[in-house]
Amino acid sequence: MKGKCMIIGAGGVATVAAHKCCQNNEVFKQIMIASRTKSKCDTLAEVLREKYGANVLTAAVDADNTDELITLINEFQPDVVLNLALPYQDLSIMDACLATKTHYVDTANYEPTDTAKFEYKWQWAYREKFKNAGITALLGSGFDPGVTGVFCAYAAKHYFDTIEYIDILDCNGGDHGYPFATNFNPEINIREVSANGRYWQDGKWIETAPMQIKREYDFDGVGKKDMYLLYHEELESLALNIKGLKRIRFFMTFGQSYLTHLKCLENVGMTSIKPIMYEGREIIPLQFLKAVLPEPASLGSRTVGKTNIGCIISGHKDGKPLNYYVYNICDHEECYKEVGSQAVSYTTGVPAMIGAMLVMSGEIPPGVFNVEELDPDAFMGALNKWGLPWQECFEPVLVG
Ligand code: NDP
Repeated sequence: MKGKCMIIGAGGVATVAAHKCCQNNEVFKQIMIASRTKSKCDTLAEVLREKYGANVLTAAVDADNTDELITLINEFQPDVVLNLALPYQDLSIMDACLATKTHYVDTANYEPTDTAKFEYKWQWAYREKFKNAGITALLGSGFDPGVTGVFCAYAAKHYFDTIEYIDILDCNGGDHGYPFATNFNPEINIREVSANGRYWQDGKWIETAPMQIKREYDFDGVGKKDMYLLYHEELESLALNIKGLKRIRFFMTFGQSYLTHLKCLENVGMTSIKPIMYEGREIIPLQFLKAVLPEPASLGSRTVGKTNIGCIISGHKDGKPLNYYVYNICDHEECYKEVGSQAVSYTTGVPAMIGAMLVMSGEIPPGVFNVEELDPDAFMGALNKWGLPWQECFEPVLVG
């Protein structure tokens, strides 16, 4: 049977992607949800069968174990593996895809467990191997990375002769009512925001202290928010793939309560990834912290407000300067009504499904690609169709 997708992971993002695959049943005829905790896959599968009459299988798998993955892939024979586990599993899953000649899609680049550092170099090293095996890997097919890269490629294709400046603005105006919780996997989220900031300017990376650069921005649909410059993984690929770029930065909004809690947790050592001994066994403080924080997948029913994520792009067309802002506004409560998840999982799960659909169409050549390397039009059309409509503005307020 054609149209088989194996989703790895059963958390917040995987839940949305699975709903979207089931809604798109002309393309996705059968899905398998395979994750570490099988009971989560079974609970989700029940919902999908009841809601859509979907053809869903489940399995337990340790995605750190390539041999286990190979066995499962050989049994199920999917056209594509959609990796929605954690960034630590990217390489073991890519190895299993290579061994079984199966397409691969993910939403976050590889990160070793013992250093809070993410880079594409490990996954880009698979380019030749994937090409020679005749299979495709699509990297970073979430919202950011993901849609933000597609937005840049769309701007480059349709509006600009040259792009010089890109600011990616990620605003979550949602409120879940907890003093402190993270909207996606707490361990990955806290590693990302407690690292040094970094942006690319005039051919080199400029590093800042964490949260050193702050701006206020008035977001359509949300209102005024403080946002902070962070390093984010799509900066690495966009700085390479958008030719002639002079500067690219990434900003994310944070509320004061989140920042105060984070500072305190950092100060007492709870965000550390260095193992410590506790009652005779080794634990990693950040993993312990994850265990006491609310699961991102549980925030959906409590979250109100909207997200607004997009790119402000500046450059030239026909010798004249041009500014362009393209963004999506997503409503937490609407997402919850539709698929039982909040908007951060939704805005990631929808493009993950779209990436898998495009890879399954066979129109992407073999190799390893970041989303901005594809023709953006099909992706942009699918965003409108599958729940993430985008808006354009040709006179945006610039960040400064
Ligand atoms: P969750 O923590 O909610 O879910 C992660 C899932 O992966 C869980 O079901 C977990 O299983 C499973 N898992 C973890 N380790 C393994 C393993 N070794 N083998 C099998 N399954 C495993 O995370 P999210 O859904 O919030 O995030 C998923 C991914 O999406 C992350 O990589 C995150 O970085 C990325 N992301 C990307 C965004 C983007 O815009 N590009 C935005 C947000 C997230 P268990 O239930 O047993 O813990």
